[in-house]
Amino acid sequence: MTTDKGNFRYIGTTSDVVECENCGKADLRCTVIIMPVDAEGNDDGEPCYYGSTCAARALGVRGGGAAVRSAATGARLQTLMNAHDAVRMLKLYGLPLSGEMTDDQRKTAVRAYVRYNSGVQARIAEHGGTVSDMVRDMLARKHAAIAEAVLVAGAGWKDDKQPLDWGYRPEITRCWAQVTWDDVKVD
Ligand SMILES: [Zn+2]
Repeated sequence: MTTDKGNFRYIGTTSDVVECENCGKADLRCTVIIMPVDAEGNDDGEPCYYGSTCAARALGVRGGGAAVRSAATGARLQTLMNAHDAVRMLKLYGLPLSGEMTDDQRKTAVRAYVRYNSGVQARIAEHGGTVSDMVRDMLARKHAAIAEAVLVAGAGWKDDKQPLDWGYRPEITRCWAQVTWDDVKVD
């Protein structure tokens, strides 16, 4: 999203942080999590926690706090779905949900990657790189997706001693229940 105050994207909303980082107002019901992005759309800085009205003013969002809340609520759902996908993908490749992969995990994932991505050899022939690089890149992206879900869904998600079968977590189940076909944009 582009505003006259610079570029940013919404990560979602959270009730874990109830103080606006911008003005210091406390005891908010929830805050919106915003990530500054650079001109290329890459993350550029740390996530910020703003009250929605404050975010609208600070970032120059048309539609005020209501527009911010609506966009951030949608982003929260997307963040949770991305993390859900990330967990499923990491399990498919036998990769850890957090931390570094072992050499054995890397080798297994490389074999699986070649099997599941038929164009990979052609891509390497054209652009260079290795399958290991692609696996490392995938691991980093999936871990980033999970980290964003932790931001919106709370500290409980950090506990990797718990079974991370998020599909059965009440929060996700509630989210799925709210998704209708109208929410699925096909273009
Ligand atoms: Zn504020």
